[in-house]
Amino acid sequence: MSTYVNLSYCNTKVVVFVKEFLKHPVFNIISEIASLEKLQVYVIGGFVRDALLGRPSKDIDVVVVGNGITFAEKINNHIKGKSKLSIFKNFGTAMIKFQDLELEIVGARKESYRSNSRKPIVEDGTLQDDQNRRDFTINTMAINLHPDAYGDFVDPFGGITDLERKIIRTPLDPEVTFSDDPLRMMRAIRFATQLKFKIDVISMEAISSQCDRIKIISKERIVDELNKIIMAEKPSVGFKLLDKTGLLKFIFPEMDKLKGVEILGGKGHKDNFLHTLKVLDNISKHTNDIWLRWAAILHDIGKPDTKRFSEAGWTFHGHDALGEKMVPGIFRRLKLPLNQKMKFVQKMVLLHLRPIVLAQDVVTDSAVRRLLNEAGDDVESLMTLCEADITSKNDEKVKKYLANFKIVRQKLKEVEEKDAVRNFQPPVSGELIIETFNIPPSKIVGDIKNSIKEAILDGKIQNNYEEAFQFMIEEGRRLGLNYNK
Ligand code: ATP
Repeated sequence: MSTYVNLSYCNTKVVVFVKEFLKHPVFNIISEIASLEKLQVYVIGGFVRDALLGRPSKDIDVVVVGNGITFAEKINNHIKGKSKLSIFKNFGTAMIKFQDLELEIVGARKESYRSNSRKPIVEDGTLQDDQNRRDFTINTMAINLHPDAYGDFVDPFGGITDLERKIIRTPLDPEVTFSDDPLRMMRAIRFATQLKFKIDVISMEAISSQCDRIKIISKERIVDELNKIIMAEKPSVGFKLLDKTGLLKFIFPEMDKLKGVEILGGKGHKDNFLHTLKVLDNISKHTNDIWLRWAAILHDIGKPDTKRFSEAGWTFHGHDALGEKMVPGIFRRLKLPLNQKMKFVQKMVLLHLRPIVLAQDVVTDSAVRRLLNEAGDDVESLMTLCEADITSKNDEKVKKYLANFKIVRQKLKEVEEKDAVRNFQPPVSGELIIETFNIPPSKIVGDIKNSIKEAILDGKIQNNYEEAFQFMIEEGRRLGLNYNK
């Protein structure tokens, strides 16, 4: 069954590339120790796949037909002082950091699953056993590192052909592969999205037929794959596959709810799922910030629950504020971080309509000042999100919005230079108000402070102490307070 193909049978360019990689001194060291210890050792999995695809990778999986930890210790002794060894006894793996590489070393293993347990029975195995337990044919390819067969390519499932045909296929029966570890369904979609490959028909059918089994997988593992889909060049591909296979409704029901178009009185609204994916693809051309991409995914998440129909047509009033409120629940369930990153996403969701509203009208200084004040240092990200949000098919509309956004950006620059209102704190403190008018801490102090802020944002006074102080005195007088000079 196993096919041992010498690398020279493959596409010449690819051979040169992989051989180039094998020139790294680390492979010579591994080879030398494999010879001394009389062990069969292979580089396998993602590194081989990526080398063949011409995508250099720094993570190298090494499989030893024997004890992986002992072998790792031997390598580490050889390069002592230049490397860092970590041993994970429970998993039977070891990691060596050497130069810019991370080597993960493991003994070849055989895994068998029983229907009543999710945990596999793991035993020592052959290379073939180890290849059998892997998820996709393109991840099963191995290169021999023993000096007697150095560079030989071991590809029992035709991974190289699938790589050329751009196919994601399981090495064994897909029903079994996906049932054994349902995370592989997400991994199939993740690889298809990252590599622009197709998932073969029977694997797609197997995913669709057992999509509900994703429920037994931890949220951490799921979100890891989801984030890799989100960071792909065109993440919509992955989300459409998640939808097509039925996985989406289990892992991300709020997004599933965005789907569909309702028509009443002959009037329909846009499909918010497809719109969101368009925005996500748009923004992905301009940013690799995963949280800004998450903001694109969630910007309209409040729409299904704010949807109303009236004579005038469909409205989604308040979907920005509701969306902002929904973010923590989604982050908590998906085990995304509940920190400043989440706050940033909330802020983007809440403010995502603001620049559009601004751009629809005459762009005034005071409106720009207010936007700057609320968005603070994230104003650039907000503008990027809003530009990505223009998905209208009406070219004239798109042109008008983009032109207005240019004006908004220009004004943002001018106003910021002139007034420094980004992250601004009113130049007069509450203490000074209390002292000046000899009043106790009370609501009126906050009211005066707020009036000063509004006056600055409206451009009535400049953002400096002198003008703010003068305004405070006038405001106090207007409210009947005594000013003690
Ligand atoms: P990436 O580095 O982009 O995440 P990768 O393929 O290197 O891609 P890893 O998660 O590091 O992904 O896995 C390394 C190898 O281990 C894979 O190439 C595959 O052979 C195997 N593997 C990983 N996860 C699974 C799984 N759930 N089921 C079966 N094999 C797996």
